[in-house]
Amino acid sequence: MPPRSNNNRPGTPGNPGRKPMFNMYWMYALIILSLLALYYFQDGSHTEKVNWTRFEELAETGCISTIIIDKQSEDAEGILNEKGRKQIPINTDAMEGDIKVVTDIPSSSVISEKIDEWNATLASGGMKPMTVEYEKGSNFTQLFWYFGPFVLLILFWVFMSRRMSGGGSGGGGIFSVGKSKATLFDKNNKTNVTFKDVAGLAEAKVEIEEIVEFLKNPQRYTELGAKIPKGALLVGPPGTGKTLLAKAVAGEANVPFLSMSGSDFVEMFVGVGAARVRDLFKQAKEKAPCIVFIDEIDAVGRARGKNPNMGSNDERENTLNQMLTEMDGFGTNNGVIVLAATNRADMLDKALLRPGRFDRQIYVDLPELTDRMEIFNVHLRHLKVVPDLDIEQLARQTQGFSGADIANVCNEAALIAARNNKKTVEYSDFMGAIDRIVGGLEKRSRVITDEEKFSIATHEAGHATITWMTQYGNPLVKVTIVPRGRALGAAWYAPEARQIIPTQALLDTMCGLLAGRAAEEVFLGQIGTGASDDLERTTKIARSLVIMYGMSDKLPNLNYNDSTGQEYGFTKPFSEETARIIDEEVARIINEQYERAKEILRKYAAQHNKIRDLLVEREVIYHDDVQEILGPRKWKSRTDEIMELNRKEAGTPPPFSTPEK
Ligand code: ATP
Repeated sequence: MPPRSNNNRPGTPGNPGRKPMFNMYWMYALIILSLLALYYFQDGSHTEKVNWTRFEELAETGCISTIIIDKQSEDAEGILNEKGRKQIPINTDAMEGDIKVVTDIPSSSVISEKIDEWNATLASGGMKPMTVEYEKGSNFTQLFWYFGPFVLLILFWVFMSRRMSGGGSGGGGIFSVGKSKATLFDKNNKTNVTFKDVAGLAEAKVEIEEIVEFLKNPQRYTELGAKIPKGALLVGPPGTGKTLLAKAVAGEANVPFLSMSGSDFVEMFVGVGAARVRDLFKQAKEKAPCIVFIDEIDAVGRARGKNPNMGSNDERENTLNQMLTEMDGFGTNNGVIVLAATNRADMLDKALLRPGRFDRQIYVDLPELTDRMEIFNVHLRHLKVVPDLDIEQLARQTQGFSGADIANVCNEAALIAARNNKKTVEYSDFMGAIDRIVGGLEKRSRVITDEEKFSIATHEAGHATITWMTQYGNPLVKVTIVPRGRALGAAWYAPEARQIIPTQALLDTMCGLLAGRAAEEVFLGQIGTGASDDLERTTKIARSLVIMYGMSDKLPNLNYNDSTGQEYGFTKPFSEETARIIDEEVARIINEQYERAKEILRKYAAQHNKIRDLLVEREVIYHDDVQEILGPRKWKSRTDEIMELNRKEAGTPPPFSTPEK
């Protein structure tokens, strides 16, 4: 994903529109200060409100030591002495501060007379007279209690309203939630990715470059009456370079490029997605001619549910509807081309895919052999590698790898080389990296007994023998009995990239997968749990052979698979009877291949045992070792044929050396 920067927003660092920060920390500081003030100003006293008669009673009976008169608020406070403290209905023993009684004075003119009267009574009874103090106004604590909460409330309200309007702190507020979060790449802010960094993908690049050309030079097309396409959708498996291609457009196009991810439209507030779409297109129209890129568009563009009440997300549908309107509605958005990327075009709403919205779908597939070589070349630019590195062999070893996987192999190889204190990265480091990525980390520390080793070697030698002896078995690269990841041993193949897979190829693959278990049965007389992964894969292939490709004898030419994932819901598209036949066919096919594997193994038992013994001895054996034991393969590899064709076309000798083994 392109790095997200907010430098087109007001109030962010480096932006002149910045205002002083008013954030939550101010509030915390204020609250803490208020609490501290309260703590220091409180005198630990307790005040009891009493009526005038009770106050008089306490004063006359000598329970009050001091009277404080507040003429402004017309009340009198009496500090109780030891005797008075006992008169209060609460337990005052644990209280350290003064205990006061407070009352309203009936009339300020009578209070002085009353005090004289009480003091006279006390004197006649032989008790100490009360001292009198006059207070002019409220003390700080009282003031604080009267006004503090209001001040705090007002401050809090001001703070919240500033945050919600987003005015004070740079646009992150609730009212700016409908603004799109698109990152802008233009003349001042370019990515440094160019089309040179995107290897392979020749057709996709041509189409994308053409789109950039439309914007730069529209007359060339409009003069002939052609309409400029509104959008192009990049579809393909993960890591094949869709985002990279879009980044290259941002780097090369001399027009503004707005980039956003599909998930950026999604927010917890209703209506925000649609508002963001509107805002995005508004920005785009202002900057036209320009390109809008939406990565992972399936986050919003997923097909709308048939029944809106049945768990479908209304908010997402609103967002999608807005996008449909913006892309092809009444409003014109001339000069805005929308690029989008997704792994799942089949999930997208049909309306989004129709011409007029995404006119073009550009399929970005997993790279072919020559593309992989180019991708290796791009990523090797940054590495220090040995001069005669066999890139073709590396590309052959990475059939089925995406561009991202290859980038990972290169990095992993460099790490392995660095770990071994090498000055340059060698072929073996790349092989180590590929092994690691495919099989997981080597676990030499796992303790394996000789008996177990023998059994693993028997199993792996079984795979090696059968793949060598069947027409569509993939060319073997290496066999190992060193535990790796979860596996106890593994056979590595260079899988052939086939455009069309004949039935026999599926059967041979199954036979090769079952060979491990078959070898255990034939040569050890007992089977183990080690084959569970092989069995899972075999069963999947057999099932797809029957229900997807219509290749089985009893259910020919029928496909019960729903590639869109929308048709059948919870119901099966076939009857119970057919389900039974499917199960039977799957079991039959697997059984036949298992028997076939055993037969071939019995025929080549001597060779199998040689491979097994070599494996026990060396732990890792290669293609050449197997070739020596089983003789050259009868069938030519398809990859070899393609490479030969390529070279003939180019009229050049092979560009890469063959690897040392
Ligand atoms: P996703 O669908 O998962 O988002 P994507 O197709 O967008 O994946 P990218 O993010 O473009 O994949 O690719 C990831 C990384 O893989 C790139 O940063 C780049 O290093 C490498 N890569 C992928 N394809 C290529 C390519 N054709 N040439 C060079 N590098 C590539």
